[in-house]
Amino acid sequence: MSDVNSNTQQPYNHANEQPTTVRPVMQPDNPYASTRGSIMTKQLPAFDEAMINKYNRSGPRYTSYPTALEFSPMPEGLETKILQNREARAPLSLYFHIPFCRHLCYYCACNKIITKKNSDSGDYLQYLIKEIKHKRRLLAVPDGSDKPLVKQLHLGGGTPTFLSDEEMVQLWAFLQTQFEFLPEDEGDYSIEIDPRELSGETLKVLRNLGFNRVSLGVQDLDETVQIAVNRVHSAELIENVLTEARGLGFHSINIDLIYGLPHQTPDTLDKTVRRIIEMSPDRLSVFNYAHLPERFKAQRQIKEEDLPDPAAKLTMLGNTINTLSEAGYQYIGIDHFAKPDDELAVAQREGKLHRNFQGYTIMGDCDLLGFGVSSISQIANANTRYILQNDTDLQAYQASIDAAQSNPAVMPAVKVIKTSIKDRLREYVIMNLLCHDYIDFKDVNQKFGIDAITYFIEEIQQLGAMQEDKLIDMDAAGIRVLPKGRLLGRNVAMVFDEYLDKKHKNRFSKVI
Ligand code: SF4
Repeated sequence: MSDVNSNTQQPYNHANEQPTTVRPVMQPDNPYASTRGSIMTKQLPAFDEAMINKYNRSGPRYTSYPTALEFSPMPEGLETKILQNREARAPLSLYFHIPFCRHLCYYCACNKIITKKNSDSGDYLQYLIKEIKHKRRLLAVPDGSDKPLVKQLHLGGGTPTFLSDEEMVQLWAFLQTQFEFLPEDEGDYSIEIDPRELSGETLKVLRNLGFNRVSLGVQDLDETVQIAVNRVHSAELIENVLTEARGLGFHSINIDLIYGLPHQTPDTLDKTVRRIIEMSPDRLSVFNYAHLPERFKAQRQIKEEDLPDPAAKLTMLGNTINTLSEAGYQYIGIDHFAKPDDELAVAQREGKLHRNFQGYTIMGDCDLLGFGVSSISQIANANTRYILQNDTDLQAYQASIDAAQSNPAVMPAVKVIKTSIKDRLREYVIMNLLCHDYIDFKDVNQKFGIDAITYFIEEIQQLGAMQEDKLIDMDAAGIRVLPKGRLLGRNVAMVFDEYLDKKHKNRFSKVI
């Protein structure tokens, strides 16, 4: 939400397709699973202003590696082959993008359509259903079953609850005819909620359908800030929604906050954070607002002079980390916190945490299948993983689904990244740093048939300065991110990013 998910197409570097030095001697079922197996004790991040100022620079959020900047146009027929060749036994994670919002939040950097026309969602739902049918016919099913298994599902936006309760029931009922779902609460079925956009029945309807996790967009509770970003709601409304969700049995309730918004001060944000802690969400995302009005039209409504200066933003971040840590929340990484008994925190301590386009997740063994305008899929075929994106323009997306009705060869994805084994190696290293603050060289050697110290000798040399500054610790066994470096995990990961050069420098926001 606060950072840049660029859709800019960049030419794919085919030179990376044929690795010369990386041998996949062991293909893990779970691509980021570490062989360490031991329970990890997580250290709290140490807020060091001098280090943040020294190392903070623009960088990706690594919901994938390579990042979305490496998309190239989709060759004809490739999406069909990718879906047909998918490993039938790999469970699925489904993502549905609902692009509609009734009000414009001025900080918004999402792919959304502002509309008050309720019928827009009904029309869109019919396109989603056609797209599901169209893709589903290509998917093989595992032995002994007649439908592919869905372990994870997420509705994002936009505002997913722009769909009426009846439309949500219709979507869910159709999905049951196409996919197998896990029994009560064994799966991870979640939805983003705008607390202002709920009917009296919506939460009950969602819970009865099988959703078990919600994420509430709050951002800030201060009225002056809310007015400045055009997103006004009371703390009581948030508390009531959260209480109702908990009463209905939703677990892992997440709240999104943003620091760096107009008129925010360390004091006002501190009040918001403390009030939110009283509500006791299981997870918190605290995003950094990146003001990029030249790229995101909505942000032109925000006056630059109303924004807190960099020093105030750093104070807000430091205070927020301290307050959340004192309240018992575990820092997961990047902008995420969770209670120690939340499954994300448990997975991190057990070395089983993953990261993909849905952020931090415990479902790293799933292929991600996206539906709707701009949605992203991530699908493994043997040793290769493909990242695909549907058209980001609603009319173009709908036209592709219309065309597919008479021509089954037409598919909605317009961009693709084919990851090489070299990419998979770097992805593994980057995701381990971001999920577990650690790279185990022996583990990397075993999985990829390399000598990690020799292979990454330049990166290790580059990390020397961070070691001197005590952000990381390196020895013959591996690289460990130290408490002072935890907030700069993305900066450590960037050292291993082969694509990160000057051509992309200005496409990302600052890490902190
Ligand atoms: S609700 Fe989300 S997607 Fe919609 S305008 Fe606000 S920030 Fe953007």
